Amino acid sequence: MRRNLIGQVSMLRHRDIRNLSFRAVKIASFQRVLPGGQLKPWQPAWAPIWCLFPLGGPRRMAWMKDKLRAESSPHIAFHDWLSERKEEMAALLAELVAIPTENPPGNNCRACTDFLEQRIRELGLECKRIVPAGAGSAGEDVPASLLASYGSGERRLYFHGHYDVVPAQSVEQFRPMRKENFLFGRGSCDMKGGIVAMLYAMLAIRECGVELNGRIGLMLVPDEETGGQRGSGRLAREGLLGQGGVGMLLAEPTSGVVWNANRGAISLRVRVLGKSAHVGLQHQGTNAFERMHRVVERLQELKREVEQRNTRCAVGAEQRRNSILMLGGQSGGGTNFNVVPEECWFTVDRRINPEENLAEEKARLLGALEECREMGIPLEWEVLQEGGSAASGEDEALGMGRRLALNCVPGCWKRGSMQKPECLPTPMVRDCSQWRMDRTSTWTCGR
Ligand SMILES: [Zn+2]
Repeated sequence: MRRNLIGQVSMLRHRDIRNLSFRAVKIASFQRVLPGGQLKPWQPAWAPIWCLFPLGGPRRMAWMKDKLRAESSPHIAFHDWLSERKEEMAALLAELVAIPTENPPGNNCRACTDFLEQRIRELGLECKRIVPAGAGSAGEDVPASLLASYGSGERRLYFHGHYDVVPAQSVEQFRPMRKENFLFGRGSCDMKGGIVAMLYAMLAIRECGVELNGRIGLMLVPDEETGGQRGSGRLAREGLLGQGGVGMLLAEPTSGVVWNANRGAISLRVRVLGKSAHVGLQHQGTNAFERMHRVVERLQELKREVEQRNTRCAVGAEQRRNSILMLGGQSGGGTNFNVVPEECWFTVDRRINPEENLAEEKARLLGALEECREMGIPLEWEVLQEGGSAASGEDEALGMGRRLALNCVPGCWKRGSMQKPECLPTPMVRDCSQWRMDRTSTWTCGR
């Protein structure tokens, strides 16, 4: 029933909304990598988290001890603060889900950013609206981004999220439904729930009185669901992404594992042209299907070559390490069985490993198509999507902080264990690649 009602609707699942709290606690724990910049060498997993404060440590330790009093675990102060606000967080999430920010085409960006900006300001955080250069009149649905921040100074740990959602199957999906410990609605999990969790993580840090050696910046963007060119891509092109960044944490739903890398993508639709004729006069036509077959053969040569390459990233059991070139995800052409096809088309989906370079692989792919043209095959192509790959090493500073932060969150990682969390490259194009352009460490984790 639940599935039938909502189809593939995202859901935020948690015990008594505690998942939201847990995620926020997990993110709140991250602030401890900021002070001083230099993290201490790897500590035993059961070390108290305040050992991460290299500057003014004893004073903060005293504060934390006072704050925590008889509490045995440092995450409890954050957790308690957040737990008291679980209904408030759930209500905010419901209001966000009710704004149908479907993408494509990219609806209601203004309504969503107006709502978020107002709410962020009411909660006492700074909020800057970043409008695309040359944006139109006040009434236009401009795909703006928001940057909320807390703290001071130039160094920033970024939280990042997108407020667009994939199209719904029914308007019902924009009427959020609370049922027991679940909140249903399009985008509740991917990733308006993440936005609420990150926002309240910032508030928890402020309200629990933790000092920061820098800022936390919460960047909220549109257009992630269709590649990010009007969101993170634009910010990156305009030099507005990752300024002063020491790292970025993205609260996309990952089922609890950590994504430290993502594949890139270049996807094409290739159209091969011929000349139509009746089957009885086929000698007067040129068969586009047979021409397309030659193009496919050339691309299969490239496929055999690129799929020899393997990523060094750890990947899940269900994934393969090899680079990917898939042909014919969609294809079509011709008008009838007794007519020489005038046009045939097929798609190419090239997914590059984190170690591969998008520009090089795109040039190689298009070069193969150019060769076909030189062989006398008339063809054209359309780029459906493109985005670079990205990877953050597990030993990068934020990665170390991430290990420790995760270790302090019950249920997120086996407590007291030195076992590493599962790190996987996601096969999808993500905003992470834009952040990696300036070598910002990026990590993605959510429930
Ligand atoms: Zn998402």
